[in-house]
Amino acid sequence: MHLFFFISYAATTSSILFDMSTLNASCHCGAVTFKAEGGTVKGIVKCYCRDCQKHLGNFAPWVVCTKENTEITGPVGEYASSPAVKRLFCKDCGSSLAKSPNEGSVLLIAAGCFEQPLDLEVVKEVFVEAKEPWMLSK
Ligand SMILES: [Zn+2]
Ligand SMILES: [Zn+2]
Repeated sequence: MHLFFFISYAATTSSILFDMSTLNASCHCGAVTFKAEGGTVKGIVKCYCRDCQKHLGNFAPWVVCTKENTEITGPVGEYASSPAVKRLFCKDCGSSLAKSPNEGSVLLIAAGCFEQPLDLEVVKEVFVEAKEPWMLSK
């Protein structure tokens, strides 16, 4: 399945080729890397909660990954932004990288940290009551 997707993707792309079977993400300095198995990624959730706004400086577009299918390497720091959620960041450059609910297998990785263009749909918007007028796209 992955191989077929890669071949058909490569056949229609003339310049830069990416293997979508693995999605690679990293922090600003490159010390922390994430490798998410492409087939296990579920799309993008936009979160407008105050915790995301404070920690990222904006609303948060998260790529929905799973803890068991994502490999994380490098100097990752953890911060408990609430009793239920940990935020992962790079200890070297301070980039906000991921949101990891303590319960369940979901790992949300910041969309802007991915190396390749993401061919993913926005599947959900959450905490929209905290959305500010300036966050609306034109
Ligand atoms: Zn870093
Ligand atoms: Zn949030």
